[in-house]
Amino acid sequence: MSPATANVQAPLTLALSKGRIFEETLPLLEAAGIQVSENPESSRKLILPTSDPGLRLIIVRASDVPTYVQYGAADFGIAGKDVLFEHAAQHPGGLYQPIDLNIAKCRLCVAVREGFDYEAAVGQGSRLRVATKYVQAAREHFARKGVYVDLIKLYGSMELAPLVGLADAIVDLVSTGGTLRANHLMEVEEIAHISSRLIVNQASLKTRAQALQPLIDAFAKATADK
Ligand code: ATP
Ligand code: MG
Repeated sequence: MSPATANVQAPLTLALSKGRIFEETLPLLEAAGIQVSENPESSRKLILPTSDPGLRLIIVRASDVPTYVQYGAADFGIAGKDVLFEHAAQHPGGLYQPIDLNIAKCRLCVAVREGFDYEAAVGQGSRLRVATKYVQAAREHFARKGVYVDLIKLYGSMELAPLVGLADAIVDLVSTGGTLRANHLMEVEEIAHISSRLIVNQASLKTRAQALQPLIDAFAKATADK
């Protein structure tokens, strides 16, 4: 069998993260007539079959989805704009982003401790210490405002940083604001609306169009119908 033949017969691989993106993708797959019987929260499998023998899922960290797709280990994937923005800064080009799926919606915000006078701190031109997982987005935001910041890279639980004196502010994703309130933080600025996009490997788009395009179309239709 030539490599080209093997390629045509291999199932398409869709990269997803577990949690909200997986859950909100299931209805889109169902709209395309595809069911997933295993739940990545309870199963430990990282490769999940679907009811369509031509499609399998791989479960990876949210921030790793663009990497799997860019290198072609997955033909396509679903990732938040937050993740895509950070990825693009390191790996410009390379990912085709045909559809905003309008799922996993939230916003990227600046938040500070309750009682911290953010406007005054910014107005005085003092250097702000900002902790975040979203270093690129934060750098661009504060540069646009002309605010000097020292960025501190964190990998999670950003809410803690202002409470223990690691930072004056955080840049984090917020949906209801419940986590901020529970930690006596308040949102002071919105940086961007976030939702998840379908991303497609450039080579797969050409060589596997016959299998890929119907799925891309079904996702687009399911998104428009919502
Ligand atoms: P990991 O837990 O692997 O470090 P993560 O915390 O970024 O990664 P999730 O919390 O599952 O992973 O978030 C995945 C994506 O869902 C994010 O990249 C973002 O686009 C979106 N998201 C994050 N937080 C929210 C939220 N509160 N509401 C809606 N969507 C969100
Ligand atoms: Mg998480």
